[in-house]
Amino acid sequence: MSSSVGVVVTTRVVAGLIQDHRLHGELREFPENPDSTNGLIEVPAESLCEIICDAIQASAARSEPAAAGIAMPGYLHQGVMLDSPNLPQLKGERVCESIRAGLEKRGLKLKISVFNDADAVAAGIAASRGQLDRQIRVWTIGNGIGYGRYPWSEGPWEGGHMVVSLDPREKYCGCGGLGHLEGIMGHRAMRLRFLDMEPDEVFAAAHKGDRRCAEFVDLWHRALAAATASQIHLEGAGRFYYTGRDIQRLELPRLKNHLYEMIKMSPFQSYTVEVLPEDPALAAIGAGVAALIHHRC
Ligand SMILES: [Zn+2]
Repeated sequence: MSSSVGVVVTTRVVAGLIQDHRLHGELREFPENPDSTNGLIEVPAESLCEIICDAIQASAARSEPAAAGIAMPGYLHQGVMLDSPNLPQLKGERVCESIRAGLEKRGLKLKISVFNDADAVAAGIAASRGQLDRQIRVWTIGNGIGYGRYPWSEGPWEGGHMVVSLDPREKYCGCGGLGHLEGIMGHRAMRLRFLDMEPDEVFAAAHKGDRRCAEFVDLWHRALAAATASQIHLEGAGRFYYTGRDIQRLELPRLKNHLYEMIKMSPFQSYTVEVLPEDPALAAIGAGVAALIHHRC
């Protein structure tokens, strides 16, 4: 089995060498001495592509990987980032072209592919569980809300921007759209809704019985159930995973109750839902493995 490099771009850039569907060595963060910036949001697109190239170069140094897969948030099409509400500086960026040019400058010739970050998580779940022959769908709950699927398939699959509310007051999505899932569950959206509280404080207050916070936490779970139920009605039942930086906020029994209320047609009731603890290696493994299977650049 050949090796590959997996790079994940979220609020930071991490990368590692992937061999036999596993992380070989450790995930490393790039740049290696980050200054005290607010993550990547203030890094211009050009510099971000340079950081990605440095990450690939450093990870490739110990071996001769055949490919590199780069996972990033947003809607990628034919190597171009069409939109990325959580890394807006990438909008319109020809990411494949920029990364390829940066690697050439460094004398590196390896096949690169770019993937949506949630799709990379889905591929990582499939690879690490020996399920590359199955369909995997995953929701990632973090800064934004990602929807990923494996095997890779053409299309935007912007599940985080699925409309789950018709209430015109639901206007907090970073993309500007009304009633979106991410407008309820996303980190930035929660901060806009509760101007005086951080998202963690909202969940803590809900557990202590604060009514406004408890109502919101219920809305948060219903929104995720609604998006999952819509997916099930469109594509059928099957296995759904839930993971991501803020996955500890999810109460699975609560999600299951809402799903039970939303899905009543018997052919759709054979779905299963599973929570996976946050593991930054999943997306890196997925990006690396998928880069050897599908060339997306
Ligand atoms: Zn949106």
